[in-house]
Amino acid sequence: MQIFPLFIPHVGCPHRCLFCQQEKTTGQSGAWDPSVVAEYLDRLLPRSGFGEVAFYGGTFTLLPEERQREYLCVARTFVAAGRIRGIRLSTRPDALEDRHVALLGEFPVQTVEIGCQSFSCTVLSLSGRGHTPNDAGKAVDRLRRAGISIGLQLMPGLPGADRAEALYSLDKALALQPDFLRIYPTVVLAGSGLETLFRLGEFTPLTLEQGVDLGAEMLWRCQQAGVPVIRMGLQATDGLEGETGVVAGPYHPAFGQMVRSRLWRRAFTRAIREGRTDGAVCLADLSDALGQKKQNVEYLRRFSEKFSIMTREDVPRGHVCFGSGPISLMEMASYQGIQD
Ligand code: SF4
Repeated sequence: MQIFPLFIPHVGCPHRCLFCQQEKTTGQSGAWDPSVVAEYLDRLLPRSGFGEVAFYGGTFTLLPEERQREYLCVARTFVAAGRIRGIRLSTRPDALEDRHVALLGEFPVQTVEIGCQSFSCTVLSLSGRGHTPNDAGKAVDRLRRAGISIGLQLMPGLPGADRAEALYSLDKALALQPDFLRIYPTVVLAGSGLETLFRLGEFTPLTLEQGVDLGAEMLWRCQQAGVPVIRMGLQATDGLEGETGVVAGPYHPAFGQMVRSRLWRRAFTRAIREGRTDGAVCLADLSDALGQKKQNVEYLRRFSEKFSIMTREDVPRGHVCFGSGPISLMEMASYQGIQD
């Protein structure tokens, strides 16, 4: 599914959440005037296609109703022309009351992404979110009744959170059976309320290593539940680079790959423990299996000088061969009862 994003940073938000600084994360400031949206989309969209125009950032469903209709009407004309299949937007769990969902139902809105961030009352409160864990469940029920696909967003590492909270919140999110998840480990952005707490020594973000390690277990759990993770870690933008972007926390432009590589590392570590001397993967998985700058190879040398990672054409994607038939990465990297 190709997504054509239109960012409307902070527009419609009832307040500024502690961690949020959307000018940095979207690389854009200010809202789109509906009068220029049509012109922009006309330039952006293919002549025909099956993608979605996405209104991201801010709290779309808390915009004045007239403004929501203006945006949605413009996007609908491109659906009618066959240039996209539908509309997608992001919003807060407490901004999806029946009346909000009814309005979306008047338009070809196919997907709504809900910023849950956490299912812990304490973490939500400390992060200044202003909603409760239960709001997400109610929002999901309403969207599902309206036939709209649902994505949930989580932010491990917020104030008051730890690994147990991250896995608890993930379990709660998965129990709602979303169509997909996005996982963004919390980073400290310049200009955010979290930066103030960080500078005062009152908030310590996850390190990159902790974020990757936690992300790997979360990804594994999502795979077990059959829920795709369509994004792991913030998308790199110019606004995130340098001292005026990410101040601290587990940010890396290749965060998603580092998480996938961690699962391969886990699988190969287990293989070495079981006495294997090499593992074959398909070419498409090789980069993840070797790790960023071959970090997995370096790590595995601690346990075995002999173990090698190679490619073989007949190994399916997401699998590894140790001589006999392919074994799935998720089985080899299992978090059930096996330690790294
Ligand atoms: S996290 Fe969402 S609701 Fe909070 S300020 Fe940012 S865009 Fe608005």
